[in-house]
Amino acid sequence: MRKKGDNPFIYSDTNKRYHTYDYFLRQKFGKKVFKVPLDCGFTCPNIDGTKGVGGCTYCSARGSGDFAASASLPIRQQYDELRASLSKKWEDAFCIPYFQAHTNTYAPTKQLREKYYEALALPQAVGISISTRADCLSKATVELLHEINEKTFLTVELGLQSIHDVTAKRINRCHTYEDFLNGYRSLNGLNVCVHIINGLPGEDRGMMLETAKAVGSLSPHAVKIHLLHIIAQTAMAKQYAAGEFEAMTLDNYVDTVCAQLEYLPAKTVIARVTGDGAPDSLVAPLWSRKKFVVMNEIDKRLAALNSYQGKKLEETSCY
Ligand code: SF4
Repeated sequence: MRKKGDNPFIYSDTNKRYHTYDYFLRQKFGKKVFKVPLDCGFTCPNIDGTKGVGGCTYCSARGSGDFAASASLPIRQQYDELRASLSKKWEDAFCIPYFQAHTNTYAPTKQLREKYYEALALPQAVGISISTRADCLSKATVELLHEINEKTFLTVELGLQSIHDVTAKRINRCHTYEDFLNGYRSLNGLNVCVHIINGLPGEDRGMMLETAKAVGSLSPHAVKIHLLHIIAQTAMAKQYAAGEFEAMTLDNYVDTVCAQLEYLPAKTVIARVTGDGAPDSLVAPLWSRKKFVVMNEIDKRLAALNSYQGKKLEETSCY
């Protein structure tokens, strides 16, 4: 890992000019922590007909849980198997069980409680991450999340993807930015990680920047910046094949992410600056397979511009 050198960004001890999740977790827990994705066999209101059918147009068959073990396995077995393989890389690390696939607050409270408490008891686990939609947070669920938060380091991950309702409609999200804001506010007092996606059909750089600015103004605990991965067998793959939109280039992506980072508060943890597309089913953009190249290009661009996370917020601050 490269040394900090002349990096002016305060939440970093390397060349990273943004507040990485790895840095945050090392500061908080004193050593390496990695997430272990789980699939509890939940579904999603955007798939089962409650809100929509077919899901978001980019959603894979496994509800964005492509790296989790099989949902047919008990949580403990899923956790042990994945942890064993990841521990080869990071011996003696702590773990955060990650309820990743589909919508992990979309079930009766009793069932959710059982699953969350099972995760609380997993060995070496120092937290829990729960991924969900902002329109799936009933009062009882929010109370349960507060209860879990009393017992561990909880992060609730909310998919926003874009603040633009025209985009949400086009990708069949079946909820609006207003719905997102209502759900976000209901989680007041909890750590929330907001997911956004760059490269969605019909969006230009200005729209993506507006999403980042709006998210930055909420000062969330964390943000995940994803690149749109076009996955085989999805509605979006068909639209892409029909020439309805183009995938982002690496240069555009790097430029957009660097600009977005300037509008995200320095304290907000950047849990991702690109995503992992399941390599076998990725249709485009194929350059995204080389995740470390993408991350290095972002580091290089930020350094070349002498930029860093939150820089534009400092410049506009009245202090
Ligand atoms: S909300 Fe998530 S799980 Fe549901 S359809 Fe969209 S991407 Fe898939």
